[in-house]
Amino acid sequence: MSEAVVEFEAVSKTYPGGVAAVRDVSLRIHRGELVAIVGPSGSGKSSMLHLMGSLDVPTAGQVLVDGHDVAGLTDREVSALRATRIGFVFQQFHLAVGVPVLDAVADGLLYAGIPLRRRRARAAAALARVGLGHRVHHLPHQLSGGERQRVAVARAVVGGPAVLLADEPTGNLDSASGAAVLALLRELHASGTTVVVITHDREIAAALPRRIEMRDGRVVADTSTEPAIGAHG
Ligand code: ADP
Ligand code: MG
Repeated sequence: MSEAVVEFEAVSKTYPGGVAAVRDVSLRIHRGELVAIVGPSGSGKSSMLHLMGSLDVPTAGQVLVDGHDVAGLTDREVSALRATRIGFVFQQFHLAVGVPVLDAVADGLLYAGIPLRRRRARAAAALARVGLGHRVHHLPHQLSGGERQRVAVARAVVGGPAVLLADEPTGNLDSASGAAVLALLRELHASGTTVVVITHDREIAAALPRRIEMRDGRVVADTSTEPAIGAHG
């Protein structure tokens, strides 16, 4: 069987104040998958993404990312894992004002300690990959929303992460730009990147090969064909 990039074993997340955002979730996402996590607002999707991305730790259960038990790592190790093995794309593009897109993408490699020239060369290649080879010297405000999100995708994949986590990546886009960003995520998947897309949009989810459906913090459906893991529901 292929390697698990993300593994949840009876994972729960309860926030201070008592909201149980994730309840007893067990699942595996394997290298090379393209997965939708779908559910209504408040169902726990972003909380799942934070756990998958080592941005948060569970209150119960175990999360393994790229084989590492996140709770057992030091802060430094978590930072390294996140910087080198995980790519994030959010609804808001999070591009710094006044920073040319080439540098915004090159900054995705800062942690790796690569010299600036090589970072820029790799950034240029990543921008070409997302169809923005002709925009490398533009500033974010000179780009459309769809182009900005493609820059964010380039930044997320420039370091060759084990998994790309996208939280409502088309949420701020018109339908044509949203479709282009989804097409890009599919292309990345086709060339080997493991991709998890969080969406409340059932239509978007329906177009992806595996759908994990959330309701009130629980997985209520998973189209994965692998046998359920553990004894947990
Ligand atoms: P979704 O992304 O599906 O909308 P979230 O994971 O953001 O769901 O939220 C799930 C539940 O957890 C919601 O009830 C939300 O209000 C709550 N929640 C999310 N983040 C926090 C937080 N940092 N502190 C307290 N409650 C939170
Ligand atoms: Mg959310």
